[in-house]
Amino acid sequence: MAVFNHISFDEHEQVVFCHDKESGLKAIIAIHNTHLGPAFGGCRMWNYHSDDEALNDVLRLSKGMTYKNAMAGLQMGGGKSVIIADPQNATDRTALFKAFGRFVNSLGGRYYAAEDVGTTPADISVAGTETSFVAGLEGKSGDPSPYTALGTFLGIKAAVKHKLGLDSVEGLRIAVQGVGHVGYYLCRHLHQEGAQLIVTDIHQQSLTRVAEEFGAQIVAPQEIYCQAVDVYAPCALGATLNDTTIPQLQAKIVAGCANNQLAQPIHGEQLKQRGILYAPDYVINAGGIINVSFENHYDSEQSTVKVSQIYHTLSQVFQVADAQNRTTGDVADEMARAIINGK
Ligand code: NAD
Repeated sequence: MAVFNHISFDEHEQVVFCHDKESGLKAIIAIHNTHLGPAFGGCRMWNYHSDDEALNDVLRLSKGMTYKNAMAGLQMGGGKSVIIADPQNATDRTALFKAFGRFVNSLGGRYYAAEDVGTTPADISVAGTETSFVAGLEGKSGDPSPYTALGTFLGIKAAVKHKLGLDSVEGLRIAVQGVGHVGYYLCRHLHQEGAQLIVTDIHQQSLTRVAEEFGAQIVAPQEIYCQAVDVYAPCALGATLNDTTIPQLQAKIVAGCANNQLAQPIHGEQLKQRGILYAPDYVINAGGIINVSFENHYDSEQSTVKVSQIYHTLSQVFQVADAQNRTTGDVADEMARAIINGK
């Protein structure tokens, strides 16, 4: 398994492979860039099919965090960690996260871990018994998901304003793929403003909740792409915008919270060619990390104000992309790199 020649390697500063025999922990921590400050990023637990799949994920996700933190105006670098295990069937979760915490600690504050897919603030609190380099703890900034959902909701509104000239999502049909931590809160915002929801998930319980609370219509996972909707909001896992799914889309806007939505950069170009406005994932989903950045002097009002800036940042990305006839992803990347390089 190559690292320096890996397709997703992008001058990452440090990649750490972690193994603890007693707990069975297998994890990878990737620190992409610490130019703006110590690397912050979630810890994902997933049943990866191979070590290479896990490496690819952590390399891509950590780079995304560098760009996300820069575009959110945070003095934080980008990093991420993945634990290779089934999140539903981990044998001794406490031992696993304690071992993980010791590895995070060994990095001396170059990387701060928070919750992500497959992990919870409680897991990160367990890691926090072994290291102070954790964030998003219960009793401090807490669960980032509601703030990620708020930022995503405002990002959808920015896209709706830019593409459809509307100030509200009232009456719009919005397809939400994945109604987990973030997807649930997003559905609540959208429902409160009068959107019609079409949802999918692989967990029936999560679906029942949004159907009952928000009157959402449920469709099968593979049917979410071809729905006659105004907005498609990917809120599950990455790479759902690809050669197979893009031709199926009827939405005029793609705006959701999932990380790494484009399978490859070329898919951003394909969306543009189809006239679909794409909200770059790491810009629209920065609400959670913005909230985490207030960890040590927590103030939910200040956090909400900063999360709300996502609307303006995205509007700027959309305007520049239109003016220069470029993809929104290209424009966001260029803006992020300028911030990281201090230009
Ligand atoms: P989550 O695990 O709580 O929710 C994801 C949901 O997607 C789950 O309900 C899961 O069952 C569902 N899902 C998985 N595969 C699916 C499929 N093939 N089809 C339909 N549904 C499927 O995770 P989350 O915290 O809500 O995060 C969702 C996404 O947002 C992830 O990509 C995550 O990296 C990203 N994100 C989350 C945060 C945060 O604050 N939690 C911040 C930034 C980005």
